[in-house]
Amino acid sequence: ELCPVHTSGSTTLKMDRMEQARRVMSLSPVKAEQPAKLDEFACNVFTDREIAARVPKATYKAFKAAVKQAKTLDPHVADVIATAMKDWAVERGATHFTHWFQPIHISTAEKHEAFLTPRGDDFKVIHEFTGEQLVRGEPDASSFPNGGTRSTSRARGYTTWDPTSPAFIRDGTNGATLYIPTCFCSWTGDALDVKTPLLRSVIALSAQAVRLLRLLGDTETEHVQTTLGAEQEFFVVDRSYFAARPDLLFAGRTLFGAKPPKGQELEDHYFATIPARVHAFIQEVESELWKLGVPTRARHNEVAPGQHEMAPVFEFSNMASDHNMVQMELLREIATRHGLACLLHEKPFANVNGSGKHNNWSMCTDSGQNLLEPSANPRANLIFQCFLSCILHAVDTHADLLRASIATPGNDWRLGMSEAPPAIMSIYLGADILGLVDWIRSRDPAVNGVSTAEDKDPSLLLHLGKSAIAPFRRDRTDRNRTSPFAFTGNKFEFRAVGSSQNVGHTVTVLNTIVADSIKTFSDLLEKTIASTPSLESAIITVNQHFIKAHDRIIFEGDGYSEEWVKEAAKRGLPNLRETVVALEGFAAKKNIDLFQAHGVLNPGETMARYNIYLEHYVNTINVEANVVTSVVNSNIIPAILKHSKRVADSIASVEAILGKDEASPQRVLLKKIQGLLNQLILANQQLSTTLDSKPSFPLHKEEAEWMRDQVKPKMDAIRVIVDSLEPLVEDELWTLPKYSELLFIK
Ligand code: ADP
Ligand code: MG
Repeated sequence: ELCPVHTSGSTTLKMDRMEQARRVMSLSPVKAEQPAKLDEFACNVFTDREIAARVPKATYKAFKAAVKQAKTLDPHVADVIATAMKDWAVERGATHFTHWFQPIHISTAEKHEAFLTPRGDDFKVIHEFTGEQLVRGEPDASSFPNGGTRSTSRARGYTTWDPTSPAFIRDGTNGATLYIPTCFCSWTGDALDVKTPLLRSVIALSAQAVRLLRLLGDTETEHVQTTLGAEQEFFVVDRSYFAARPDLLFAGRTLFGAKPPKGQELEDHYFATIPARVHAFIQEVESELWKLGVPTRARHNEVAPGQHEMAPVFEFSNMASDHNMVQMELLREIATRHGLACLLHEKPFANVNGSGKHNNWSMCTDSGQNLLEPSANPRANLIFQCFLSCILHAVDTHADLLRASIATPGNDWRLGMSEAPPAIMSIYLGADILGLVDWIRSRDPAVNGVSTAEDKDPSLLLHLGKSAIAPFRRDRTDRNRTSPFAFTGNKFEFRAVGSSQNVGHTVTVLNTIVADSIKTFSDLLEKTIASTPSLESAIITVNQHFIKAHDRIIFEGDGYSEEWVKEAAKRGLPNLRETVVALEGFAAKKNIDLFQAHGVLNPGETMARYNIYLEHYVNTINVEANVVTSVVNSNIIPAILKHSKRVADSIASVEAILGKDEASPQRVLLKKIQGLLNQLILANQQLSTTLDSKPSFPLHKEEAEWMRDQVKPKMDAIRVIVDSLEPLVEDELWTLPKYSELLFIK
């Protein structure tokens, strides 16, 4: 139900703000239609178990072998699986199927096709779905970003089944649809999506990790997977307020809004009771995710009012990435059913914390060994030590690329704003692992054998004094929320990722840079082994070399501080503050070569991404600027004119009785409002003129720089004026719902 009052552009108020607030607060939580039951986990997923039960044994075996070894699937096997998949879906009420893919940019795409096919000439229909339909789709690719890999006239693109991520069903109001996760490429076979390079990057990392494990004496591991748990942060606002804010509707963030009397100063929202309507909404999202085989573990409020977080249980990164995309879609959709709007933007509100998506990442062998698990005695754990060195090398050598992977216009408002990790890439290890690194550094490579020196276990028991409270174990490391890349026990947490991003993209970059560092490490280790008496001393030598060369990337202090910015500059660490500069990482020769060397992206595919991200930047700022000029003209200026008239009328009637007083406070107030109004009109004209006079640029980069330097500052200047006017204008004349309503009234 839309807000009857603050519909944008409306100038007559049918209901006052208080009445609207009361209406919103009287809404009760919405019950989910069918909350999931315990035994319904993954009931909407075409799981391995379903496949095994529905196809001949030999077919199942061939399918599993193809998936495990990344081998090409036999067309006959695809046919049998397709029929089983269709039968399963139709039994569950599916009428259509869709190849579901992730074009390079944030959202997902789908094109539904019916299972029903007419047969014969007596109006018979049958359900049909072949292996070819499963394996190959052909959507018109022309409307998806391609960054110059294909001219618009050459529209053909293909989607192709990813058998490593299971198909699933989503119920619609009038029937269900089978979703088939797919890759998406151009007619020439270039990857136009996020998934394809992600899958390639897992294989690249696996190859290098297995090679290193062999050198370290592991004879069994055949594959290494990367694991990912993506903690999703988001804001929830009432939908009637959302609908009355063209900036939220079109740009996903507020482009105006004065600071409310109370922001997040008291931090009293964190871990407080989740508001009832929001709670019901999150529960329904969890329940839908449950049926889709996505277990969510944690839910809580976040530090800003109206901000929340959901954390899933980690999975292999490809599945985790698909599941995060589904989760974002469900959050948006289900919020609507609850009369709410879910904001996934990195910075929907100025002056309150933005939203991130912490990427908890690790590597895991096919026998389930976490390669980043320090174990009880990390000093004896050579595997952990070596992979740790590789990560120090990766984040230091490729800090530019890691930074580029999180460069989006939304994240610009967050990184380095003293609330989120800075734009400087660094690693936090925690005292325990830092101690280990120092110990490795000081070892004598001539020693033989694995160290038996016991590390003092830092996970000691904590006692809270004399009481009935049981002693409990503390974690190996403390938290450091100011670090962009923190070791958290047995995984790294890449904290600088933006809340709206497709994590497949960030993980692709992470996998590739780590694969490359493992390769460098193994090359050196192989050489060193040849000239060193024992494997252990060779390992110590190489680890020491890596640690000494890359320890500048380790930073344990306050990443929000000014000192760190200076210190990082001294250490020679890049500080790429904003998107247009940071995206250069994708155009650097070293990185183009890196992606190519590991078979993740060919040079054309890398450059395509560079251009697409720049294009996205341009489009984002352009939309925001258009919203600013139109809202200022149709909402803000009229409100101020009306208010000024009321003040002027009041002055006239007072002065008619008391006589003219040039210095009266009322006149001062009116002058102040008029001064700001005139500034606003001029500033808005300037912004419009700038937008109208936009030159055409041969390069996306130049266009993005122009938007950044010519348009963005003018928008920011307008915001300052509008936000200083908001508290001066009568409340009921201000048609945009205010921060206090958006953030506090649910
Ligand atoms: P935090 O305290 O950082 O908010 P949470 O419990 O909210 O922690 O989230 C931690 C995330 O890390 C979860 O999604 C969890 O599944 C994930 N995780 C745990 N172990 C691993 C691992 N080995 N690889 C990847 N992710 C992991
Ligand atoms: Mg976290």
